[in-house]
Amino acid sequence: MNFAILFIHKKNVNLWQSITANMNNRKINSINEDDKPQANCGVVGIYGHPQASLMAYYMLHSLQHRGQEAAGITTFYYDEKIGKLNYASHRRNGLVLDVFSQPELFTDVLKGNTAIGHNRYATTGAANGLNIQPLNMKYHSGILAVSHNGNLSNTNTLRRKLQEKGAIFHTTTDTEMFLHLIAHSKKTTVIEQIKEALNITKGGYSLAILTEDGLVAARDPHGVRPLSVGKLNFVDANNKNQTAYVVASETCAFDMIGAEEIRSIKHNEMILINDKTLKTGEIQSYKIQPETPVAKHCIFEYVYFSRPDSRIFGHNVDKVRRKLGKNLAEEFPTTPTEDGKKVTVIAVPDSGNTSTLGYARTNAEKNNYDTVFEIGLIRSHYVGRTFIQPGQDNREFKVKSKFNPVRGVIENRNIVIVDDSIVRGTTLKSLIKLIRKANPAKLHLRITSPPVTCPCYYGMDFPTKKELIANHFNTEEEIGKYLGIDSLHYLSIEKLIESVPKDQGINYCTACFTGEYPIEIEKE
Ligand code: SF4
Repeated sequence: MNFAILFIHKKNVNLWQSITANMNNRKINSINEDDKPQANCGVVGIYGHPQASLMAYYMLHSLQHRGQEAAGITTFYYDEKIGKLNYASHRRNGLVLDVFSQPELFTDVLKGNTAIGHNRYATTGAANGLNIQPLNMKYHSGILAVSHNGNLSNTNTLRRKLQEKGAIFHTTTDTEMFLHLIAHSKKTTVIEQIKEALNITKGGYSLAILTEDGLVAARDPHGVRPLSVGKLNFVDANNKNQTAYVVASETCAFDMIGAEEIRSIKHNEMILINDKTLKTGEIQSYKIQPETPVAKHCIFEYVYFSRPDSRIFGHNVDKVRRKLGKNLAEEFPTTPTEDGKKVTVIAVPDSGNTSTLGYARTNAEKNNYDTVFEIGLIRSHYVGRTFIQPGQDNREFKVKSKFNPVRGVIENRNIVIVDDSIVRGTTLKSLIKLIRKANPAKLHLRITSPPVTCPCYYGMDFPTKKELIANHFNTEEEIGKYLGIDSLHYLSIEKLIESVPKDQGINYCTACFTGEYPIEIEKE
């Protein structure tokens, strides 16, 4: 396949090599981070549970893959000293386990039966302490806290307008915009204030907001990022059956605490969970804009970001990933070698595992090629920061510290590696070099998404256009040659779209593959 049309830059291998050489010197935290877009953030919320902060903690733990820089929880509780509702918050840099390592945080600090939480990967704003969410405020209508997943696309205009009105920003994150817009609203109820603020903002957002009126959750009018609502049945201290309500970016967070999904929050929808919900089960629903546009769900959530055991946008991620692998095998099968070596399919763990199963099965059962699925790469989950000896090849060492090829599976075999995406390609190149040392007879690569050619402005951290490997070569053959493999094929955009669920009124954002941005991007 020649995809010169997709590629913006002409072939320039020397430039590309100098870019990747510079990146070799850059500090990276883990191997995957360098070759994958960074998942944006994870948000959670819970209303009506006596251990709300502990439940939020467990939910954040299962959403750790959506952000590893920082974590935070805010709770609302009745403060007897001041005789009214107050908030408590704990927010730090680090993984959830480290940030909440002291058990007394859940009993002595984060009190109350409502909580929201956030895992942060810095898509906007520096990775400093002030930017860690939830962001909390006391204003004319009481107290309010916000957790946000996504990126706004009209931040500069909003910030300028708010500053002209006297707003002073404390963070460099676009999430603070919501607080200022809510505080500046002249509307009389908190729900109306939030609704007005959401109408002014543009871009991708999924929000959990704690207010004195209850827990509010919302998805932007195009619904770029996922957010679901669920319920958690429990027995209280008086042995009475009770139900708490929860929201989370992915349903794997519900599984963690034994909650069940009620539904995906709709695009252009804002819901309110309050004491009335606890009594009647009714979740109040509001439209953000009067007219609901066609949804533009992020297609990359299915390809890579979300966990396969989650449901997002009302669908199983696992099922879609298998279909991606199946469609890839139909489009680009791998054949046994001329001397009869069967096809051995291996995944790049963990993100490529599920789609690899789909690929292997289809290559065997539908394409009728002698095919086996094998575990060819063992991944260490305990990498952390590794001390690199002076003079050591930094990238190669980091790859080795994370993946080890299983020689018995690879040696003298006809191997096809299945992975979900290639962004820079630098780490993948080192990984392929490592696999080559185990002496495969043939080494092929199949990717369950099209070439990534454009950055994301709706809440994913992609490298710049010139850092994307697909923008430096004219064909997949050239990329394959650069990576050091015998053949490379990407899933086509048509087959990617065919693989994802088709619901009425739902479409997809595919901008990082096509450059077609569904929501206007503000010029700098
Ligand atoms: Fe998702 Fe890509 Fe669109 Fe960003 S540009 S929202 S990652 S599909």
